[in-house]
Amino acid sequence: MRKTVIAGNWKMNMTAAKTGEFIKALAPEVASMNNADIVLCVPFTDIAAAVEAANGTNIAIGAQNVHFKENGAYTGEISAEMLVESGVKYVIVGHSERRQYFGETDITVNLRAKAAINAGLTAIICVGETLEMREQGITAEIVAMQTKVALMGISAEQLKKVIIAYEPVWAIGTGKVATAEQANEVCAIIRNVVAELYSKADADELTIQYGGSMNAGNAEALLAMSDVDGGLIGGASLKVTDFTAIVKAAQ
Ligand code: PEP
Repeated sequence: MRKTVIAGNWKMNMTAAKTGEFIKALAPEVASMNNADIVLCVPFTDIAAAVEAANGTNIAIGAQNVHFKENGAYTGEISAEMLVESGVKYVIVGHSERRQYFGETDITVNLRAKAAINAGLTAIICVGETLEMREQGITAEIVAMQTKVALMGISAEQLKKVIIAYEPVWAIGTGKVATAEQANEVCAIIRNVVAELYSKADADELTIQYGGSMNAGNAEALLAMSDVDGGLIGGASLKVTDFTAIVKAAQ
């Protein structure tokens, strides 16, 4: 059985001081919820505080990006080894905001995913179409291509350290959520692509999340879908009550 993973993406929000408070408030609320893995992907500067506050809880800490080189003259970048040493277990790779604002391409997403996995991290690889692409009727092709490039050179064994997050760009931070059927349809397309690349058994094991304006009100319907194995949650992960409700919906 594949894992359900509920991951928050704090983006560029929360200071280290607020991080400790947030996790101390969240931890008792979700302590008994063991049907989903719970992850908070926090800004780099919040990692130390997050790891300390989450110690001994069922909350794992993730980062929001990783560089693809092991070390070297890459001013401002953070390596996978640095993340591992700081206690991070997951890292988001190829979020659409990084593709849109920071020149991320399918190729760099692949390089980052491999660097993360080789260091022992679980890579949450984001794929998803823009509104224009959806209206053009090419969602399946776009998402299939992003998935195929992201997984280049990743073995079936390494696939166990991969989560794919289907995040339609038009639904991120817009309040426009995909219907449960739309989310499930594309997650199933991704699973079929993975089955072709690897095997049906490997694809059946892969956690595929939906992300895009998931909140306390719509999480249950989305998470009930057969191919949706969790959520990547932006805005609603910044409030303890909302994030707790989403984790609860995964039960
Ligand atoms: C995200 O940042 O991955 C995301 C899904 O954001 P939001 O939930 O705010 O749409």
